[in-house]
Amino acid sequence: MNVIPRQKPIFRFAPSPNGPLHLGHALSAILNYDMAREAGGRFLLRIEDIDQARCTPDFEAGIFADLAWLGLTWEEPVRRQSLNFPAYQTALQSLIERDLVYPAFLTRGEVKARVAAGEAGGNPWPRDPDGTPLYPPDDRARSNEERKQLLGSGLKHAWRLDMDKALSEVGGPLQWHENGDGETGDILADPSAWGDVVLSRSDAPSSYHLSVVVDDAAQGITHVVRGLDLFHATSIHRLLQALLGLPQPLYHHHRLILGEDGKKLSKSQGDTGIAEWRRQGSSPMELRRRIGL
Ligand code: GLU
Repeated sequence: MNVIPRQKPIFRFAPSPNGPLHLGHALSAILNYDMAREAGGRFLLRIEDIDQARCTPDFEAGIFADLAWLGLTWEEPVRRQSLNFPAYQTALQSLIERDLVYPAFLTRGEVKARVAAGEAGGNPWPRDPDGTPLYPPDDRARSNEERKQLLGSGLKHAWRLDMDKALSEVGGPLQWHENGDGETGDILADPSAWGDVVLSRSDAPSSYHLSVVVDDAAQGITHVVRGLDLFHATSIHRLLQALLGLPQPLYHHHRLILGEDGKKLSKSQGDTGIAEWRRQGSSPMELRRRIGL
């Protein structure tokens, strides 16, 4: 009898070293670690440092120190996005060759002005699930000739996914399996709510969305456990996985930890930083209690 080997579950915690970790990160890291152990699987740490302007070695060192204090251990070597730009470039190139992305030339200021002008007429500009205005249609509508000319002139540009073309390329509805603290079961993805998402910028060779799907596939991630704030972004991840022929992990989006003011934590809130708990002499056990574990 042939025994099909079952894949070992692989979990990852993927922080960005652009600020100190807070209690929400602690919940994410501990859940990933505990679930990996319970499943007899592996726990990986990934440093998401594509934004080289905001990520620093000090914040990265802080991540390692905080996680070690929490009692977590992870496999070495740790994957760093800044060392994998060619992998994201290859993925982007394949989308460029298939005409599924287009060069986008509007600056942030120009987009802002277009949105303000559009809204001055009393019509609200469409926004993505995070509240960011969708990219105006100007660059999508350009002819190939015009694109070539603008690219040839050396004008700075980003690359954006042509959402309509991408959706017709995958042909049918996309889903993901969700087992988290919000809606569960098979969730219907709705990538179009995000408009023509950016996949690389002139100052950052890859976007979060592109690198996260490339990395999850490269590391064989079977279970993505992260905060509910990324629930809707999963629609884009499923679309990119389908376009790039990448496997889809299972998803678990966990509850968010709120501050005393009932608001979502941010990296600038010192009192909810893990390092601050350490400095004040609290124990990892006390921190676990604070985050409801
Ligand atoms: N790097 C992201 C963050 O720090 C998390 C990405 C993910 O888990 O998919 O918010």
